[in-house]
Amino acid sequence: VITHLRGAPQNAKIGDMSQAWIMPVETSPNEAVSNGDDEAVCGSCQFRPALGGGCYVQVPFTSHRVWWAWQKFGSYKPIEQLPDLTDAKPMRIGAWGDPMAVPAEAWQRLFDAGLGRWTAYTSQWTTASEVERAWWQRWAMASCKSAEEAAEAQALGWRTYRARLETDPLQPNELVCPAAEESPSHGVTCAKCHICDGVSRRIRKNVAIVVHGRSHARGAAVVGGQ
Ligand code: SF4
Repeated sequence: VITHLRGAPQNAKIGDMSQAWIMPVETSPNEAVSNGDDEAVCGSCQFRPALGGGCYVQVPFTSHRVWWAWQKFGSYKPIEQLPDLTDAKPMRIGAWGDPMAVPAEAWQRLFDAGLGRWTAYTSQWTTASEVERAWWQRWAMASCKSAEEAAEAQALGWRTYRARLETDPLQPNELVCPAAEESPSHGVTCAKCHICDGVSRRIRKNVAIVVHGRSHARGAAVVGGQ
C-alpha cells in the first residue's frame, strides 16, 4: 500500500515522503508481529519482535492503521490508478516490511510511473540469488548490523546501511546518516537526503547510524550481538 502521495507523514526523521507499506494480506500487522506471521513481509530480519525485537517501527500506530484502512475500509485506490510519479516527492519504500517480500514487477511499476527519488532497505540480501541481487541492489541498501556483515554485503555489490553502537567506529567507506542524532547535520530529513537508494547514483559511500528509536535498548543488543 502506498500512502502520503499527498500530505506529509508525521515523522521528523523522514520528512515529506510518500510511504510504501509491505504488509500481509490476511493478518493484521499487530497480529503478525505477535504470532510470527510478519516473517512473510520482514523475512529473517533480526529486529523482528519474534527474533528479539529492536525494530524502530511502531506497528500499532503506523502499519496496523494503514492495514486497517486498506482491509476494513477499502481506503486506497487500485494500483492501476497510480498517478504519474515523475514529479512526485521521494518515496520511502518499506515504511514497514522488506521490499524483497514483494515481486520485482510490482516495484518496476513505480519506476515505470516515473518515480525518481526514493529510499529502500533490505535485510534479505543474505539469501538473495545472483539474479535477485543484480536487480535489487541497484536501488535498495543492504541492512547490516556489524562492520563484518557490511563488508560481506559490499563484497557482493551492495551499498550498506549499518546500525552500529556508539562504541563501533565508523568505517572509512561509510558516512554518518545526516539525520542521525550523532551527525553534525542532524535535522536533515530523508526527504531532502534520499541517498539510501542503492548503487544507481553518484553516491558510493555506505551509511551508518547509531541504533535509535523506541526499541533502542533491544536494537543495541541485536547490534551488539547479545
Ligand atoms: S542517509 Fe539520508 S536517506 Fe539514508 S537514512 Fe540517513 S537521512 Fe535518510
